[in-house]
Amino acid sequence: MSRPLLTRIPARQWLTVLLGGVACLALWQVWLTVRLLEQDQSLELQRSRERLGEIADLALAQLSRSLGDWQIGLHELNAFPPSPSLRARFLKGATFLRISQDGIQVFPQRPLLFTPVPPVVHPQTPGAFDVADKLELREQQYDRAIAALQPLTLRPQTRPEALLRIARIQNKSSLQEGALNTYKSLTSETAFDPSGTPYALLAASARCRLLMNLGRRQEASIEADALRTRLLDGRWPLSREAFDYRWSELDRLGIAAGSPPKQAIDFSTLVAQLYNRWQIAQSSGTSPSGRESQPDSSLLIWNSTSNGLSALLTLPDWLDTTLKLAPNSTDVHWKLLLPGTSGGTDLTVTRSMAEAQLPGRLEFLSIQPISGAASNRRMLLLGGAALMLLVILGSGYVVYRAISRELRVAQLQSDFVAAVSHEFRSPLTTLRTITELLAQNRISDESRRRQSYVFLDHETNRLHRLVEDLLDFGRMESGRKQYRFEPHDAFDLVRATVNDFTEHAEAQGFSVEADLVTPEGASASTIRVDEEAFRRAVRNLLDNAVKYSPVCRTVWVDGTICDHRVLISVRDQGMGIGTEEKQAIFQKFVRGQAAKKAGIKGTGIGLAMVRQISEAMGGEIRVQSEVGVGSTFTLLLPLAED
Ligand code: ADP
Repeated sequence: MSRPLLTRIPARQWLTVLLGGVACLALWQVWLTVRLLEQDQSLELQRSRERLGEIADLALAQLSRSLGDWQIGLHELNAFPPSPSLRARFLKGATFLRISQDGIQVFPQRPLLFTPVPPVVHPQTPGAFDVADKLELREQQYDRAIAALQPLTLRPQTRPEALLRIARIQNKSSLQEGALNTYKSLTSETAFDPSGTPYALLAASARCRLLMNLGRRQEASIEADALRTRLLDGRWPLSREAFDYRWSELDRLGIAAGSPPKQAIDFSTLVAQLYNRWQIAQSSGTSPSGRESQPDSSLLIWNSTSNGLSALLTLPDWLDTTLKLAPNSTDVHWKLLLPGTSGGTDLTVTRSMAEAQLPGRLEFLSIQPISGAASNRRMLLLGGAALMLLVILGSGYVVYRAISRELRVAQLQSDFVAAVSHEFRSPLTTLRTITELLAQNRISDESRRRQSYVFLDHETNRLHRLVEDLLDFGRMESGRKQYRFEPHDAFDLVRATVNDFTEHAEAQGFSVEADLVTPEGASASTIRVDEEAFRRAVRNLLDNAVKYSPVCRTVWVDGTICDHRVLISVRDQGMGIGTEEKQAIFQKFVRGQAAKKAGIKGTGIGLAMVRQISEAMGGEIRVQSEVGVGSTFTLLLPLAED
């Protein structure tokens, strides 16, 4: 009859299956945790994006409200400078512009390097300079020409032109100092020549040139520098071309002017563009308005009507101060994406600025996409998962340990049964043979018959001892062993045991050397013990010393008293015990590897009994051993109280 499959599978394989199962369970649990964390994270990111979306929508709505307010506010910008209450409605640091029939007004004041508004040029009085021209150009009578011009310097309409001509004639007639002075008096004039160039600018520029020609370079460059400053101050309303020409002339006048400041150029260009828009609006009869981002990130808002154009130019950081995020969004950052730039990740939300009538997009990002509650939840989840994993692995380990211990005990027990059977079999076989020979009267020689009886006695005793040992061991294990503790002299008991043992030892060629010394001053070696149990313990140690000494035929028994304890050592120079086995050999059924390999018979309960007995007597057993050198087992028992 074949056994069922399950019982045919060896226990070791079950253990492997169990371990595999635990490993699978642990892996599944790890996988489950990872999946849960992933899902939790994506859910949390989704929530974060929704929140970002809400924050972005709110911020954009508020931004377009602010821009709308500004646009409306611009309609009220009719008087210049704007009233403080009107200014308060706009951003700090903004520049206000008003272009109308009255010209271009800027608040706070900013220089316009050039202006789109043509200057008002008063026409010359016809024929006023004919006489002077004739004297100067045809007749080269310079003194008379100057004299003819002098009266004209007294009339406001002809004064600047007359001074300009006088200076020119003075220059021609080598009266350079006079020319320089005349140009100087002309620099304070505000009128324009017929081409629209201010007389003051013409005079300043001519003075510089004259100084250069006279070799007075230092004075020339001081004057040129002053001219440069006045050009940058927007002192004269020049056209773009006039400004560029006068600026380039500075180099020729002996100073390195470089490029005019970009900011001032940009602002003047912007004003020119706005002026053009107003012109177009005026001619088309429309009232356009608009919002534009400038290259430097500042914002331009403008409204035009038939009366004029009002504009507001913010500082470049206007968006930082205007875009307001909800108070609970300190973790949210934003950035402006200009048209054409890419952006946007899983963690960001972008919104077009079209709602605020502006180009580009705004990108919002939370620097803390996982909320505090979520990270707490994740910590809890991780903690729980770690605990579960610990429980799974821990219980797997406990079950594994329990099963392997059981397997080991089962193995030890089966070894024990085999060893005990073996121990019984050999004396029984001998007994049977001798008994048969005696029963059949086949041993005729009297001395051999007596020898057989001695042998029978010896083997029966051995069997008896073996059975007693086993029974006693059973009692000790179950806690039923009754000890009769009485005071005995430890050394006397050891001597008696050694004496009993000597005959057996000598039969195997061993000698036992006992050295039991009570140190001077020490009290007697009296201990309270169960005599039989004590002798059995010492006997077991002696048995082992002989059994495991394959070469050296001497066993030493030493006794002394130390620290209120009696120390009895059984020493041999036998095979010794490996470090890893020194603790295990005191457990029941455990036999050393070397002993098993050498085929030395034994049941593995001798030392377990010694340990049980020594502990029952309030003492302990210790071992010192080295493989190939020998072993010393020491019983330490407390001295009996007086
Ligand atoms: P048994 O001797 O029947 O095997 P014990 O419990 O007396 O059982 O001893 C357990 C093991 O301890 C032995 O199998 C042996 O390996 C080791 N052992 C005990 N005494 C000695 C000794 N004196 N020298 C070397 N090994 C020893």
